[in-house]
Amino acid sequence: MSYRGAKSGVVNDLVLLDGSGEQEIVEALAARHRADEIYTYIGEVLLVVNPYRLISGLYGSSKIRSYVSKKLYERPPHVYGIAEMAYRSMMLNTSNECVIITGESGAGKTEASKTVMEYVAAMASKSKQVQHIKDELLQTNPLLEAFGNAKTRRNDNSSRFGKYFAINFLYGDPSGGSISTYLLEKTRVTHQQEGERNFHIFYQLLSDSRRRGDFKLSGSPGDYNFFGDPGAAKVRSIDDARDFSETTRAMDFIGMGGDEQNAIFAILAAILHLGNVEFESRGRDASDIVNARAVSEAASLLGVNERDLSTALTHRTVKSGTESVRTSLSAEKAAFARDSLAKSLYGRLFDHIVARCNETIHTEQFSTCIGVLDIYGFEILGVNGFEQLCINYTNEKLHALFIELTLKGEQAEYKRENISWVPVEFFDNTPIVELVDRRGGLFSLIDEQSIFPQATDATLFQKFQSNIRARELSVPRGAAPGEFEIRHYAGTVLYNTEGMLEANKDTLFPDLVLVVYHTARNPIAKDLFADHPAVDAGRKTNKRPPTTCMQYKKSVADLMDTLRSNNQHYIRCIKPNESKRAGMFEGDMVITQVRYLGIAENLIVRRAGYAFRMTYDEFAAKFKCAVAGTDRWEPNTRKATEDILRKGGVKHYELGRTKVFIKDAKDLLRIEDARRNF
Ligand code: ATP
Ligand code: MG
Repeated sequence: MSYRGAKSGVVNDLVLLDGSGEQEIVEALAARHRADEIYTYIGEVLLVVNPYRLISGLYGSSKIRSYVSKKLYERPPHVYGIAEMAYRSMMLNTSNECVIITGESGAGKTEASKTVMEYVAAMASKSKQVQHIKDELLQTNPLLEAFGNAKTRRNDNSSRFGKYFAINFLYGDPSGGSISTYLLEKTRVTHQQEGERNFHIFYQLLSDSRRRGDFKLSGSPGDYNFFGDPGAAKVRSIDDARDFSETTRAMDFIGMGGDEQNAIFAILAAILHLGNVEFESRGRDASDIVNARAVSEAASLLGVNERDLSTALTHRTVKSGTESVRTSLSAEKAAFARDSLAKSLYGRLFDHIVARCNETIHTEQFSTCIGVLDIYGFEILGVNGFEQLCINYTNEKLHALFIELTLKGEQAEYKRENISWVPVEFFDNTPIVELVDRRGGLFSLIDEQSIFPQATDATLFQKFQSNIRARELSVPRGAAPGEFEIRHYAGTVLYNTEGMLEANKDTLFPDLVLVVYHTARNPIAKDLFADHPAVDAGRKTNKRPPTTCMQYKKSVADLMDTLRSNNQHYIRCIKPNESKRAGMFEGDMVITQVRYLGIAENLIVRRAGYAFRMTYDEFAAKFKCAVAGTDRWEPNTRKATEDILRKGGVKHYELGRTKVFIKDAKDLLRIEDARRNF
């Protein structure tokens, strides 16, 4: 195996590159990208530059076979190489592994995660039972993508939730798994930006004429208020009808029967009808429903009484002591109630689907697991609110973990091998993480304000201003009211406090919950609210439901614990252009990502010590014929290695306990070239 790309001639591992500047890294990636060599290593970290087209011969079973039982450096860089390393380490050490995939939206995380899964699945033995489990695990992908992905301006198939998929193994065969999801972007159900779509599943459903008939839906996207930009409904790269049959096939596979599928699709249709319900003011604080048909369709699909639903949409019951008082809602508040119901139904339906997948793939029979983390990347939108704050916070946490572990891992290796080492300074992003999640930080102020009924987004903003003193947070000159900036590791983001309190409280008036929970004949709709605090209200008193911030912070902390306790493998995806085009590599865009992914620092650390390391056994076996006079049999591989290095003219190296460390990569390339010419 060569250390250079066969077509580009550029090194496979950036550690072997001349220099370590960002510009040199970008040029190397560009040359490799031009030659369809989209994968590049930095030591054991894989970089992927999205090619935006399927590269022939890069995937499939014979390619997979060529990576089995091979060391990372023996084969050209590939996701398969990383998956093989994780799988082999798991088998050898009976350890838990995880593959952490990061990169911005559209960089190729989900595709890479599927490639990891494809590899791991291919390791399954051919027994019928194991094959069935493998298929179940794989089928959860299209199902969750249908409900959790959407077309955005940056990616036609953007994941709008984070996912950690743990695949369990027993004696090397997949035996089951579990899926954890993180913060689905529920606001998309009711609002999308221009050029964007709602979740795929809505369009898939509308592509099926039979279902349309059953649910009284029209086939025209312009007929739905919840499709903010009906012009964006048709996407060239997406075949909704084909995807719908894939979704229903996946549902069959997961064990969702016809009745369950019907109930689920009826809820989706009800959400679309609900979106068309409009209100008209009656006086200052009351409203009437304008279009009775929409509400009647929604009610019938949920299986609730139309009048009950109308009343719950336009009124709200407030408890004061032992008394309940029903007040009417203004048109604006009623529209808010309608949107909350739609978002809640959808969010809970998504959770239901994840739970059903988990029931099917759950197993107690496993000894180890490989987890794959595919989480939404760092995000800067036109307007950045609560959801972006959560997403970017998660990326800060992951970045902090990456720094901690790559640095720590490197230091640990030098120590183990008795090699001297001077630590390298890193950009430390912990102040930004703490700005968000420490006591008195942004999350806790949002939580604190969420308790006060009088609090508004404006008072929240004042709290931020008066309570937080941090270099990373500022209010830029000329900012609109409520706007503040955070200097994230990956760039400065302008946030707007508008809607943050509401997103955190996630209010859904109890009237709506109770109508659905107590009266819905749609069996799934009813179950969706079984654990809602409003349902519990009679039983448990004074228990405040956890806010979104609290839940999110906890789930991210749990995730970090899981990742930290496993052996980590990294895949870092890079997006080469904004226009989703094949063959286009925009240097400026790539350099920004190289910078914030910390690739240059990664390289420096990897090199600050030694560019290259290999065990004596491996080194001696590989290079014994490379240098004249070293092809003699020498059973002591440490001695053999030293002999090769000396005769090959390598000056800067150190001999560790089990490995040789070579300082200058050029030395290694020279020996390798000599071997090839031998
Ligand atoms: P998001 O954060 O928005 O979910 P992502 O990082 O998961 O983004 P993907 O959905 O994996 O991005 O990739 C976006 C698109 O790029 C894919 O739909 C596909 O068209 C293309 N793509 C990504 N990786 C590859 C690849 N290895 N080969 C060919 N095309 C790819
Ligand atoms: Mg994705």
